Amino acid sequence: MNNEKLIIIGAGASGLVAAIVSAKAGINVTILEQNNKIGKKILASGNGKCNISNRYIDTHHYHSQNPDFVASVLKAYPYTVIEKFFTSMGIALIEGSDGKVFPMSLQASTVVELLEYEAKRVGVEILCDCRVNSISKEGKLFYLETTQGTKTAQKLLIASGSPAAPQLGGSNSGYAFATKMGHSLIPRHPSLVQLCSEEPWVKGCAGVKVAGISKLYANGEYITEKKGDLLFTNYGISGLAILDLSREVSTRLATFDYCELSLDLMPELSKEKLTNLLLARVTKESEKPLGLWLQGVINKKLIAIILEQSRCKVRTEDALNRKEINKLVHAIKNLKLSITDTKGFKGAEVSTGGVNTTEVNPQTMESKIVPNLFFSGEVLDVDGDRGGFNFHFAWVSGLRVGKI
Ligand SMILES: Cc1cc2nc3c(=O)[nH]c(=O)nc-3n(C[C@H](O)[C@H](O)[C@H](O)COP(=O)(O)OP(=O)(O)OC[C@H]3O[C@@H](n4cnc5c(N)ncnc54)[C@H](O)[C@@H]3O)c2cc1C
Repeated sequence: MNNEKLIIIGAGASGLVAAIVSAKAGINVTILEQNNKIGKKILASGNGKCNISNRYIDTHHYHSQNPDFVASVLKAYPYTVIEKFFTSMGIALIEGSDGKVFPMSLQASTVVELLEYEAKRVGVEILCDCRVNSISKEGKLFYLETTQGTKTAQKLLIASGSPAAPQLGGSNSGYAFATKMGHSLIPRHPSLVQLCSEEPWVKGCAGVKVAGISKLYANGEYITEKKGDLLFTNYGISGLAILDLSREVSTRLATFDYCELSLDLMPELSKEKLTNLLLARVTKESEKPLGLWLQGVINKKLIAIILEQSRCKVRTEDALNRKEINKLVHAIKNLKLSITDTKGFKGAEVSTGGVNTTEVNPQTMESKIVPNLFFSGEVLDVDGDRGGFNFHFAWVSGLRVGKI
């Protein structure tokens, strides 16, 4: 790309990396960013700690209609390449649980500040408060209509991300630009997102957090399950296990499938162990109401719904027999929660779908339709699991544009 101008739409994760590498290769680079500052999603990431990557990068953590594309990009850039890239900029990395990698500072702001420093050091021009409204190509030049006038360049990188988290700059504009240039899109749905339920009991449990397992059923058929925090909220349910399931729910709700979660509130106790524990607690001739009796075992906000779903007929502790205990155990380990919606792109960390990657060269990230048009990051039909996989793809696809 030498001696030509490259304009990058979006100063997010992939745009910044592509800019640094391209400028280092001697290219004249300008990034146009609609926000008043760069890297807003990086700043908000990992609860402000920035889960930058994952030591166990593998294609099975990614979702795309074109897995070969993902495999091709990832193969060229294992975790060690990212480690080298960040440490060369002075960002030391540490590993947390499940291979998650963070900056040693545990501050996302340090990542953004050092990326910005590096970009400026190698001569990248960054224009904030510059929204690109439309793009076109005439002859060999791209024309961009922006809030700061018309810009032109021989090369254009669309690194404008997805509509997830519009409050941080999430936008559909990359899709509009791509389709204008003749590209097709794979359907987009919110992912890594909280789930909504219209069941009235859920509001009463808001704030309750348990380490559990959530199983997803769609139209009565078992789909998958995830282990981790389950956090009841006034709109439905959140927590890490739910975010991890949300991709499956989101895509199924889009086709009007009936989605129901079955929650195991005590996964550490087998059915047998829980039954024995409850049986051992029964004191005959105790008139203690069942709700009060269960308080010794489970969060009291959950008891009413457990009693309702168990259809336990007895009212007091002394009336409990094995059959009634079995009903309670079943409800504790299979609490049903129907899901009607997600919190949408506003609550989502990423979007599924995006620009169809069969139309993009995985060796260069260049469009197969329009020469000198490139794509990187989440605007493409690639999304990853929670755990640093999304940033990893953003960084490596940016590196690929700059061909490090
Ligand atoms: C709250 C939150 C927490 C997250 N935490 C993590 C985490 O810990 N680990 C992880 O791996 N992933 C995380 N993610 C996902 C990760 O942030 C994204 O996958 C990643 O930022 C995508 O990089 P990108 O470069 O494709 O897009 P982005 O980083 O979103 O950058 C795109 C940029 O383009 C700009 N833009 C868009 N349209 C225009 C336009 N028309 N004109 C000018 N500029 C425009 C946007 O303002 C934005 O700055 C998180 C996401 C969110 C929302």
